[in-house]
Amino acid sequence: METKIEKVNCLIIGSGPAGYTAAIYAARAGLKPVLYQGLQPGGQLTITNDVENYPGYPDGVMGPQMMMDFQKQAERFGTDVRFGMVTSVDFSNGAHKVVVDGVHTLQADAVIVSTGASAKWLGLESEYRLNGHGVSACAVCDGFFYRGQDVAIVGGGDTACEEASYLAKLCRKVYMIVRRGELRASRIMQERVKTLPNIEILWYTETDEVLGDHAVTGVRVKDVRNGQPRVLEVQGFFVAIGHQPNTAVFNGQLQMDEQGYIVTEKGSTRTNVSGVFACGDAQDKIYRQAITAAGTGCMAALDAERYLAEKGIH
Ligand code: NDP
Repeated sequence: METKIEKVNCLIIGSGPAGYTAAIYAARAGLKPVLYQGLQPGGQLTITNDVENYPGYPDGVMGPQMMMDFQKQAERFGTDVRFGMVTSVDFSNGAHKVVVDGVHTLQADAVIVSTGASAKWLGLESEYRLNGHGVSACAVCDGFFYRGQDVAIVGGGDTACEEASYLAKLCRKVYMIVRRGELRASRIMQERVKTLPNIEILWYTETDEVLGDHAVTGVRVKDVRNGQPRVLEVQGFFVAIGHQPNTAVFNGQLQMDEQGYIVTEKGSTRTNVSGVFACGDAQDKIYRQAITAAGTGCMAALDAERYLAEKGIH
C-alpha cells in the first residue's frame, strides 16, 4: 500500500470538453494541472459520431477525434494527463485529498470537478448494438441527420418534450413513446408537444426492440395495458429518459441537488467547499452541450486561478 501523498497545484477530475478546457486555461496560466481521465477518457463525445454544432469545425468532426484534439491542446501547454479513476475524496476541514484507483493519494491546492454525466438507456441489446447508427441520446446533436424523416423518442420529462419539439422542426413525424398515461414534464412543455401537429404521443407504450441490422429501420413497441404490439417505421430512435451525473464519489463531500448534480454558486463554478470548483455536465442538467461544458471549464480554471492567487499559492 502506497502511503506517500503527492502534492499538486491544480487537480482536474474528468476528461470531457469541460475538463480539457479547464486544463488548457489552467496550464496556460502556469497552474501545472494534473488531469485524471476517469473511466471513459474523452467522455460522452467519444460515443457519438459526427459533431456538427461545435464552432470552429466548419465541416464537422468525429466525436473521438475532437476529444483527441482537446487532449493534444491541453498537453501542448503542459497538462499532465493521466489514466486513473478517482475512488474517494476527503474535502473535510479544508483538505483537498483525492485517492486515485484506491492506491494513490494526492493533496491539491485547487480541485476542478468535471466528471460529466451519463445518459440513461433502456438496456435493450438492439439499442446498444445500433447506438450511433440511428440510436442516440441527444436530439440536438443528432436530429439534423434525420431531417425530413420519421423518428421516435422515448421519455415524458422536460428533456424528452424539449427534444421532441426540436425534432418536430426537422423531421416529418415524431412519435413520443411514453410509458404512463401522463407526462412528467412541466405544463408549458406538455402543452408544446401536445399542440405540435407532427408529434404523436403513444401513451402507455413501452419499447421492446429497435429494428435494423446496420441502421435503424423501425421500433417495435407495445401497449402495456393489453400487450398489443406495433411497429413504428422510423429511421432515428432517441432515448431521453434522463441522465445520471457522475458524482457518486463526492457524496457527503460536496453539496448536490436531489438528482446528484453538484450545486455551484450562481454565475461561478464555486462549490460549497472552498477551492473546489465544478464545471460541465456534473453541474448542468439543462444545457448539456459540448460548447457549454467547455465554457464552464474555462470559468472553473479562471475561478481556480483567482482562488490560488488570493491564497498566495500562485
Ligand atoms: P426526468 O427524470 O424528469 O424524466 C424522465 C422521463 O423518462 C420520465 O417521463 C420517465 O417516465 C421516463 N423514463 C424513465 N425511465 C424510463 C424507462 N426505463 N422507460 C421509459 N421511460 C422512462 O428526466 P429529464 O432528463 O427529462 O429531466 C431531468 C431534470 O432536468 C428535470 O428536473 C427537468 O425538469 C430538468 N430539465 C429542465 C429543462 C428546462 O428547464 N428547460 C430541460 C431539460 C430538463 P415516468 O414519468 O413514468 O417516470
